[in-house]
Amino acid sequence: MRIVRITVWRVALPFHKPYVYSGGRRTLHQLDAVLVRLETDAGLTGWGEGCPFGPTYAAAFAGGIEAGLAELAPELIGRDPCGIDAINRQMDERLPGHPYIKTALDMACWDLFGQAAEVPLATLLGGRTQEPVQLQSSLSTGAPEAMAADVQAARARGYRVHSSKLGGGDPAADIARVRAVAGSLQAGDSVTFDANGAWLPDTAMLVMNAVRDLPVYFEQPCASYEECRTVRGATVHPIILDESIDSLADVVRAHREGACELVGLKIGRVGGLTKARRIRDFCVEFGLRLNIEDTGSGGLGDAAAVHLAHATPRRQRRATVLYTEMVAGYLAPGQGVVNDGGYTAAPTALGLGVAPCADALGPPVATYAG
Ligand code: MG
Repeated sequence: MRIVRITVWRVALPFHKPYVYSGGRRTLHQLDAVLVRLETDAGLTGWGEGCPFGPTYAAAFAGGIEAGLAELAPELIGRDPCGIDAINRQMDERLPGHPYIKTALDMACWDLFGQAAEVPLATLLGGRTQEPVQLQSSLSTGAPEAMAADVQAARARGYRVHSSKLGGGDPAADIARVRAVAGSLQAGDSVTFDANGAWLPDTAMLVMNAVRDLPVYFEQPCASYEECRTVRGATVHPIILDESIDSLADVVRAHREGACELVGLKIGRVGGLTKARRIRDFCVEFGLRLNIEDTGSGGLGDAAAVHLAHATPRRQRRATVLYTEMVAGYLAPGQGVVNDGGYTAAPTALGLGVAPCADALGPPVATYAG
């Protein structure tokens, strides 16, 4: 099987409700997804998606994906999409770094591989486990009462695991937020307070040590890995590293240095399912728990992440964000992954199991063919 044509679309996904980052640094109104369709000489078609969480969350933006695809897509024409490691090596040779640019192409190759092998991706990624995939909410920062109300609203939609963003500038205000949200939890609920790197180490220590009586998680307290490691040594709560994890090398170092107990594994940030799977395998082997999700999605990235999560042992996974719960414009109605009482399951159709209607995407922004 050979790739004969690659078509690219860019799609705007407006948030249902403006999303306020930790630190109140930015308010996002929409995500921009880039979709790719790989056509083959065997008649199979594979789909992939790259969707950064806006242009300011990380070193990634939709326009960068489009520009990067112009470099990479022509190189993949004529290649066998089932040789995914070889394709990743080729992409890394042609364009070192820039992992987020490669995610959509990698995902579409996995989709084709699954279709050719006549199995869902979860099978190729290790085998679907019995237990469904637990979902977590992703809630904006704000006034303590409003954040507690957001948790209640999320619980009404089935969520029992929550990720609440914090403020960043005023330790007393963040302590109030933590206490208000934690005080609104019910038995069986769990919450992570995600600072998205907004704190300096002293602020992180003040806030976290002031609530050391609470059984809660903290995520990415500071921007840099070194700052987070300093905080790790001076606090007691489990720490999730998210933005600091771009690669398997980052995870290996964090494990070796005892910098975290959990990893936020976002397939869009590490460069796709191929590299995410390697990180997942390392974490399973070395006892690190995982949040497996994407950086954003109109449907395809969520499905890919859930395939990987569903093929990961239950005790190793914490929870998964479905971005399609947060944005309008779901690209594959009637397919893919949905919130079913706070849980979801990997699609059972072959490959990725999600194929958007190309007619609904508008005109493509680029086409590459031999
Ligand atoms: Mg995070």
